[in-house]
Amino acid sequence: HAKTKPPHIFLPHLVAALEEVEETYIMVKPDGVQRGLVGEIISRFEKKGFKLTGLKLFQCPKELAEEHYKDLKAKPFFPVLIEYITSGPVVCMAWEGVGVVASARKLIGSTNPLQAEPGTIRGDLAVQTGRNVVHGSDSPENGKREIALWFKEGEIVQWTSALVSWLRE
Ligand code: ADP
Repeated sequence: HAKTKPPHIFLPHLVAALEEVEETYIMVKPDGVQRGLVGEIISRFEKKGFKLTGLKLFQCPKELAEEHYKDLKAKPFFPVLIEYITSGPVVCMAWEGVGVVASARKLIGSTNPLQAEPGTIRGDLAVQTGRNVVHGSDSPENGKREIALWFKEGEIVQWTSALVSWLRE
């Protein structure tokens, strides 16, 4: 005889399954690496409860920076932005979780660090738009696009975090 269990036991799991797991591309920019903020920045996402699926130190070639920021090509600051992003190594990260894209943007704070709220990465650690220490994808679509752009196949690792049942009911 198959054992039956009351449906309410399964309900939270069904609800969790319906919420969509997203992925986002987070990058410590060259100023963040030079200023020794890599650990601090990784720590914010780690402590929040998101799952790291990709991580590397990388010297970004000009063509990749231009592709990453192609939507900003017409902006007057575009050449300076490309120079900034390629000026030293960056730390590339892929993070996964329910609602991770919007949540990471909140943890990062406004583009202009002077307008970013205290408690956010930019609000706590930076003072200028042109040196705002970190990047985060602005939509789930761009999260996928940017991870595919910055990481090769095999560099993204699927794993099960032991913390999962302590982070979500
Ligand atoms: P965000 O990184 O917050 O998503 P944007 O997509 O608008 O912001 O811009 C991408 C990056 O370009 C910013 O993080 C910043 O490094 C740079 N940037 C944006 N606006 C300016 C500006 N007015 N002057 C210099 N750099 C800028």
